[in-house]
Amino acid sequence: MKIKEIRTQKLQAPLKTPFITSLRRVDTLEDLVVIIECDDGTLGYGEGAPTPVITGETFGSMVACIEYIKPHLLGREVEDFDTLLHTVHHVIIKNTTAKSALEIALYDLKSKLEKVPLFRMLGGTRTHFKTDITISMGSIEKMITDAQHAVNLGYDALKIKIGDDPRKDVERIIAIDNALDSSIKLRLDANQGWSAKQSVTLLQSLEKQNIIAEFIEQPIAADDIEGWKYIKERVQTPLLADESIFSLKDARRLLELEAIDYVNIKLAKTAGITQALALADLSKSYGAKCMIGCMLEGPISVAAGVHIASAKADCITMIDLDAVSLLSSHPVQSTIVFNESEIILSETVGVGVKLSSD
Ligand SMILES: [Mg+2]
Repeated sequence: MKIKEIRTQKLQAPLKTPFITSLRRVDTLEDLVVIIECDDGTLGYGEGAPTPVITGETFGSMVACIEYIKPHLLGREVEDFDTLLHTVHHVIIKNTTAKSALEIALYDLKSKLEKVPLFRMLGGTRTHFKTDITISMGSIEKMITDAQHAVNLGYDALKIKIGDDPRKDVERIIAIDNALDSSIKLRLDANQGWSAKQSVTLLQSLEKQNIIAEFIEQPIAADDIEGWKYIKERVQTPLLADESIFSLKDARRLLELEAIDYVNIKLAKTAGITQALALADLSKSYGAKCMIGCMLEGPISVAAGVHIASAKADCITMIDLDAVSLLSSHPVQSTIVFNESEIILSETVGVGVKLSSD
C-alpha cells in the first residue's frame, strides 16, 4: 500500500457554548484534517487543533509543517510503518500537533492494512468509557448552572476551569461543591493561573473545608518544576501535570522528583500515538496513573485518544475526551459513539472515522 497523496483541509465546527479558560476563549473550533491517500484508494485520516498558547502552533504553521514532511513520505509503503514514523519525527523538530495529525493518519492506514480496529492493533480490549466534561470559567452563577446541567446529562466528573483570579477561584469551587451531590467528582484545571505559593494557600483553604478535588491540574507555569515539588510537599490534593509534560523527558523529571501524582496525556503534546503509548508506560513504571485528555479538537483526533485509552487501560484511569460533546455539529462520520459522557469504540477497522464528504 503506497502513499500517493497527502492533503490537508480545515475543519470548522461551532461550539454549543464558548470554551473559556484562563488562557483563551473559543467560539468555533477550527482545526486541521490530514488525509493520506494510498494507491489502492485507501484513505487515512488524522486531525489536530492548533493551540498557540499551549504548543506554539497555528493553523498556518501546521499546514507548513505537513507540506515540509510530505515529500519525505510520498511514494513510500505503509508496510514500512516504523521507518515512516521515524521520518515524521526526524525531518523536523517540535510541531507536535502537526506530527500528531500525520501520525494518526498513518496509524489509521496501518490498522486498515491489518484489517483491525486501531485499539485491537495496539493490544486494547476495553470498548466502553466515561468522560468528564469541561465547565468553562465564568461567573459563579453560570458555572453552577453549567455544572448542574452536566450532572443532569449524566456526567459524574466535572473539569472545572479556574485560574484567572485566585480569590474568586476558591469561591467558585466552594459554591460548585455545595451545589452538587458529593458523588460528583471535581477535577480542577487552573491552566497555569496560580503561583506555587498561591496554589498551596488556596488548596489548603479548600482542604480545611473538607474539599479535596480528585486532582488539581497544572496550577502553575509549565516550566516551574520546583513549584510542583513545593506544592506536593504541602497539600493533600493530588497533582496532575498537563502543560508541564510534552515529552518522556519532561515526565521523567517530574516523576523522579515525586512532584506529581498524575500525568495528562494529549496527542497534540506527545506528537502523536507512539510517544503517547510510551508516556503511559513510563508513568506506569513510576506507579503514576494517567488521564487521556484532548485539546479543543474534533472527532478524528479525539477518536484516536479513545483508542489509546483502550490500549493502555491499565494505567489510563481517567478520561477527559469531552471535545466532541462540546460541538453543536461537525462534518465527520464516526462509528465511535460519543453520547455525552458515554464513549463506545466500534469494531470498524482503523480509527473508525471519515469526513462526511468523502
Ligand atoms: Mg489542562
